[in-house]
Amino acid sequence: MEVCNCIEPQWPADELLMKYQYISDFFIAIAYFSIPLELIYFVKKSAVFPYRWVLVQFGAFIVLCGATHLINLWTFTTHSRTVAVVMTTAKVLTAAVSCATALMLVHIIPDLLSVKTRELFLKNKAAELDREMGLIRTQEETGRHVRMLTHEIRSTLDRHTILKTTLVELGRTLALEECALWMPTRTGLELQLSYTLRQQHPVEYTVPIQLPVINQVFSTSRAVKISPNSPVARLRPVAGKYMLGEVVAVRVPLLHLSNFQINDWPELSTKRYALMVLMLPSDSARQWHVHELELVEVVADQVAVALSHAAILEESMRARDLLMEQNVALDLARREAETAIRARNDFLAVMNHEMRTPMHAIIALSSLLQETELTPEQRLMVETILKSSNLLATLMNDVLDLSRLEDGSLQLELGTFNLHVLFREVLNLVKPIAAVKKLPIGLNLAPDLPEDVVGDEKRLMQIILNIVGNAVKFSKEGSISITALVAKSDSRAPDFFVVPSESHFFLRVQVKDSGVGINPQDIPKLFTKFAQTQSLATRTSGGSGLGLAISKRFVNLMEGNIWIESEGVGKGCTAIFVVKLGISECSNESKHSAMSKVPANLRHINFPGLKVLVMDENGVSRMVTKGLLVHLGCDVMTVSSAEECIRAVTQDCKVVFMDVCMPGIENYQIALRIYEKFTKRHQRPLLVALTGNTDKATKEKCMSFGLDGVLLKPVSLDKMRTVLSDLLEHRILYESM
Ligand code: ADP
Repeated sequence: MEVCNCIEPQWPADELLMKYQYISDFFIAIAYFSIPLELIYFVKKSAVFPYRWVLVQFGAFIVLCGATHLINLWTFTTHSRTVAVVMTTAKVLTAAVSCATALMLVHIIPDLLSVKTRELFLKNKAAELDREMGLIRTQEETGRHVRMLTHEIRSTLDRHTILKTTLVELGRTLALEECALWMPTRTGLELQLSYTLRQQHPVEYTVPIQLPVINQVFSTSRAVKISPNSPVARLRPVAGKYMLGEVVAVRVPLLHLSNFQINDWPELSTKRYALMVLMLPSDSARQWHVHELELVEVVADQVAVALSHAAILEESMRARDLLMEQNVALDLARREAETAIRARNDFLAVMNHEMRTPMHAIIALSSLLQETELTPEQRLMVETILKSSNLLATLMNDVLDLSRLEDGSLQLELGTFNLHVLFREVLNLVKPIAAVKKLPIGLNLAPDLPEDVVGDEKRLMQIILNIVGNAVKFSKEGSISITALVAKSDSRAPDFFVVPSESHFFLRVQVKDSGVGINPQDIPKLFTKFAQTQSLATRTSGGSGLGLAISKRFVNLMEGNIWIESEGVGKGCTAIFVVKLGISECSNESKHSAMSKVPANLRHINFPGLKVLVMDENGVSRMVTKGLLVHLGCDVMTVSSAEECIRAVTQDCKVVFMDVCMPGIENYQIALRIYEKFTKRHQRPLLVALTGNTDKATKEKCMSFGLDGVLLKPVSLDKMRTVLSDLLEHRILYESM
């Protein structure tokens, strides 16, 4: 039998205490054993757990403690030595493991502490980052607001909208209680409250510009905090307010505005700033942040730029409006001028036609009268009538030429002609008049002057006749000399340079007289219409003052120049002109010159028995034309309408003179109807338009309908004789109009 070697308890075992200890030991053991299980579960579940082996050690320590308490249950009563040994072993092991655990804890505690420090550091860092992020976000927000504001401000280029928008947007972005803009007044001595966000203020609300607070703000480009009680900030109702919100003010430069005359902001040159005042809400602890002040400064600059753009735009819009008004006025003036030109041209056309018909009667009848038996007195009278009528006809032609030259409808009619012959013809025409005045006329043609040239013969002759005519007209005695040569560059010819070539040359004509001369001051005026000097000779010469004006225009059309030289009154004068003419490649002999006059042997030719039909609606005109033709021996029949004409025209009829401005049948259709009547070309009569119409359309239509000629009223006996002989020789006759 084994004997217990346990130490005898020193006091008698109390049954109840024993019982409690027994139960407690049991539960302690259970609790101890449950802890490792929970630890195992915890380690299993946590993915990262750095100190696993500490836990194992700790678990072993707990289990051993539990085991000690459990074994203790058997020691309350008498127990065997084995129990005592087990108990002892358990205690020893527990002691060992607990000491090891304690040591281990000492070892890992610094580790655990450093982890804690790092965690703390990280936490702080994260908080700092959060703060920075917040700042960045605020700045971004501010930037976005500035961009939005800028966009809003710039989206309009109207000053008032810009300023109003600025206030509204700033008020919204910065949550302002009030925002105001003070503009400099007309005098520049005061600032006037021009725009506010919420309050309505009288227009005359002004403050002196010399206030220290304004000077302070104007002296810097930064936004400046000012007292909420300063005069420029006193815009909010103060009643019931515990504390007024903070106020800042910033200057707004009024760039470029001084360069423009803006009516309602005049004279901005003296003060170039406006003042913007921004107020935070009252009774709040809000203060201006740096980034808000920056935003205000940026916005002030943006407003300045937008305002300058608006000013430029306003100026250009005003200029555009002005231009548009001018354009409208110009357009109106142009249309009026066009209407006037049309009216004038219509008037001229009608007058031409209407005047040519009676002129036809006067000239034709007086030329007929001239060929009858007359007393010398009567002959003089008839000659005067004829001369005056011719003068009138020339005048009519001049007026017509001038109006055509002015509206640009006159074009040169180019043809080949003999230049030398032309000069001789001029001489023949002027000589009789000069002879009356006993003025010798000399013609000097340079040996190198080309004979066959290309140009407008009729117009060239008109120019020469005009200046030679003037020389005769304004000379009482002395002589006249006409010189024609190939022009070389002449320093006296103003703005005129001769450029020689193989296909053309410049003809220089110089007409020198020893007449009344011209006052040099009057010379520049002579080439304007109706220009006449005040000299008596001029006033008694009966000129119209159109000759030189027309000549100058013709010369210009011929790419030349015309001028007059005179040393003064009584010292004679020289008229010079230069025109460009083409050089003809072939001889002129075969060519017919439109200006060639009837040879002297033709002067008294008659056309006995030549059957002629005259179609004219105008009775007088019909009778006059018939008179001319009868005098020339023709067998004349007259009709007054196109229908009659078509019926009356027969194979015997050789020439038909028809007035193309007759009503009824489309004028030119008559020609076609007559041509239809005759299948063989040689059987049909020659068709000649006899008209008072001088427009180009008439001539072109006559040509396109195949008429054999166009004759312009008035027609004298000589002219009719020439026309008939030309027609019978099958020359096509188209008078230039
Ligand atoms: P018109 O001779 O019909 O009056 P012109 O246009 O031909 O018109 O001339 C204009 C004016 O120039 C004349 O009225 C005259 O005063 C002056 N004039 C032209 N040629 C001469 C000249 N050879 N001698 C003096 N005066 C002249």
